[in-house]
Amino acid sequence: MGPGPSDVAPSVLHAMARPLVGHLDPAFVNMMEEIKAMLRTVFQTQNDLTFPISGTGSAGMEFCCVNLIEPGDEVIIGVNGVFGTRMCEVAERCGAKVTRVEAPWGQIIEPAAVAAALRQVPQPKLVAIVHAETSTGALTPVEEISRLAHAAGALFVLDTVTSLAGCPVKIDEWQVDAVYSGTQKCLGAPPGLSPVSFSPTALAVAQNRKRKVQSWYLDVNLLSSYWGQERVYHHTAPITMNYGLHEALRLVLLEGLPARWQRHEQNHLALKAGLAELGLAIVSQAGHQLWQLNAVGVPAGVDELAVRKQLLADYNIEIGAGLGPLKGKIWRIGLMGHTARRENVDQVIAALRMILKK
Ligand SMILES: *Cc1c(COP(=O)(O)O)cnc(C)c1O
Repeated sequence: MGPGPSDVAPSVLHAMARPLVGHLDPAFVNMMEEIKAMLRTVFQTQNDLTFPISGTGSAGMEFCCVNLIEPGDEVIIGVNGVFGTRMCEVAERCGAKVTRVEAPWGQIIEPAAVAAALRQVPQPKLVAIVHAETSTGALTPVEEISRLAHAAGALFVLDTVTSLAGCPVKIDEWQVDAVYSGTQKCLGAPPGLSPVSFSPTALAVAQNRKRKVQSWYLDVNLLSSYWGQERVYHHTAPITMNYGLHEALRLVLLEGLPARWQRHEQNHLALKAGLAELGLAIVSQAGHQLWQLNAVGVPAGVDELAVRKQLLADYNIEIGAGLGPLKGKIWRIGLMGHTARRENVDQVIAALRMILKK
């Protein structure tokens, strides 16, 4: 019940125990097509270029930056936690001149702050934000920031590692040009793949670069020949991870996206009510609290680490700690994917009640 990896359904583990086939075997090629189609549905996009990068969520972040940024490009990035900070670091390594739009950790990125940055840097190559900041539990609304980015002629890039399959994510409706996610949060598969999607505009930017993409492994021009119709060998797709993602996506669509979002919301509300009875509260910005990651304030006089250690040792429950400025101040309780179940909510509340009483 931490910030990921989340629990995985038994059928996903069973899928991953199946025998290997070759990565160009017709059966596997067929599975790749099904994964692409299911990802389009889950991302709610028609983008042709939609597939899983062989690597964790951070590889998807790097994929977006390394393909869309050329040295000297201006970019604007929202920073309200660990992952916005990481995106700045990745963009800088691509040679970007980064303008940060900062917000206190636990708060959202306000469109007005993005508009102010666009007055300083009126024609950036891209504007990027983290949808669900896993380090703080805040969900930044996307549409207005997307509109501002496009009005400035910029691409709009979105991190949906924690949001995808846990709350609404609408790539085409929100006009997101480049998006990445990860398998280990609400999609309900182990860490190891990073679903990505590029709009035709983003793909054209990557195809018309002045210089080659610095990373051979993450070059979209090479990867699209492998995951597209040509099937040109690039790298060997991690077969077993793709079995796992295929089954996880099947479960997402079997449940249905609206029902899945509602399950995450209801378990969040149940957790919040249970915490309130213990005198505990979620500290991220009211009205913008994540369902799948709950940032719980540590009461004064309580040893944050000692509680987490007891939860693990005595109750076999893992939760996460605060990072950066929130270190020692919050616990992070994840209710992601297969972990978002009522019995988990009840168990962590019961365990916290016993530990805090002691
Ligand atoms: C977990 C996470 C990442 C990084 O994913 P890894 O799988 O750890 O590489 C990026 N962004 C957000 C918002 C995340 O929660």
